Amino acid sequence: MTTLTNLPQERRLVTAIPGPKSLEALQRRSDATSGGLGMSIPVIIERASDAILLDIDGNQIIDLGSGIGVTTVGNAASRVVENVIEQVQKFTHTCFTVAPYMGYIEVCEKLNAMTPGTFKKKSLLVNSGAEAVENAVKIARHFTKRPAVVVFEHSYHGRTNLTMALTAKNMPYKEGFGPFAPEIYRVPMPYPFRWMGNPATITEDALEMVIHKIEKEIGAHNVAAILIEPIQGEGGFIVPPKGFLPGLSKFATENGIVFIADEVQTGFTRTGHMFAVEEEGVVPDIVVTAKGIAGGLPLAAVTGRAEIMDSSHVAGLGGTYGGNPIACAAALGAFETMEAENLVARARHIGEILGGSLRALAAKYPVIGEVRGRGAMQAIELVIPGSKEPNSDAMNKVIKYCQSKGVLLLNAGTYGNVIRFLPPVVISDELLKDALGVLEEAFAAL
Ligand SMILES: *Cc1c(COP(=O)(O)O)cnc(C)c1O
Repeated sequence: MTTLTNLPQERRLVTAIPGPKSLEALQRRSDATSGGLGMSIPVIIERASDAILLDIDGNQIIDLGSGIGVTTVGNAASRVVENVIEQVQKFTHTCFTVAPYMGYIEVCEKLNAMTPGTFKKKSLLVNSGAEAVENAVKIARHFTKRPAVVVFEHSYHGRTNLTMALTAKNMPYKEGFGPFAPEIYRVPMPYPFRWMGNPATITEDALEMVIHKIEKEIGAHNVAAILIEPIQGEGGFIVPPKGFLPGLSKFATENGIVFIADEVQTGFTRTGHMFAVEEEGVVPDIVVTAKGIAGGLPLAAVTGRAEIMDSSHVAGLGGTYGGNPIACAAALGAFETMEAENLVARARHIGEILGGSLRALAAKYPVIGEVRGRGAMQAIELVIPGSKEPNSDAMNKVIKYCQSKGVLLLNAGTYGNVIRFLPPVVISDELLKDALGVLEEAFAAL
């Protein structure tokens, strides 16, 4: 099948960013859309394919953000597009809980097989990461008959009422949007770059602090779930020290607590594993997924031990659009792409190029305090040289410089000083290296 979406995978600027057409359209954007919405790059997109975004002025921009880690298999990936076209011509909606269809069942079968753990698993499909996190918490509470949920400093789990409570950072996610849901308890996160204690014993010390808080301040028998991102996304790609996730998971198991991995940003080949928890052989009771699941169509999932996923009464779970047939067809196309193109290996390869380049930059520019991440999910934390003081001014300048040259980068971090790299995993070496060349220029220009 021929599609209109194939764009040459090269950066090309024909106007300033934003160009005149984008500028005009952005005026309509601000007139028509809620002022509460942010914007990473001030252009209007007309088409996109793989790692190139084409704006309405004809500029081709290298996408190192993937719409926040969503278009892992590439923008408008051919298998996704073909499946969507085929499905949309058959039917667009029945509601799975009204009249079921095979796409939903097949996506769940795949998720049950792909996620870690050899035990019997079942899945639930919903529309967004936040909705999936909410459902994981609902299910864990129903299963354990316990109220408390343990979450971490620097965590991000969404923008709905419950997930705002689960999210750590006040500004911009929570400020003025309360009151928040009760029975959420926040515990320390070992953030290696900013750890105040002895770096040699960070894992043991952090586990001791977390377990102490759970046992003394909450009571382990009151805890339904421990919810954690295996690598924290919006918090700034904070990678927990080796042994921390296995230690937490062991404590959860020993205390009848449901261990939930929020793999919304880390999942689906992104980190050089199908799921990030595989790095240390951690097997969660529930895995929450979204973002990379369906090549850009809105879909999210909760996958877990069958006895947990089955604990709800019939009709206790669901939603009108959850597991929409077009989104499911897209997901099946995305899974096929991940497997056929061995994107797990591809993410590791990207990690070598990206990590190598970023470490070389860090050696040259002391404004880069740390390079961290895994596979196609890496970040640099910017500081005032010679200190660990957050440098959001440098971050903004570097991102802006790259944008002006046609490279889209995203920010992150509790302190607003992290640049994250989330390229589509199908990005070519040449395109990635071109983008990294622009990044180097940006640091030279600082
Ligand atoms: C993006 C994100 C969410 C929320 O997903 P939405 O689809 O935006 O609701 C939850 N958890 C993590 C780790 C995320 O990165």
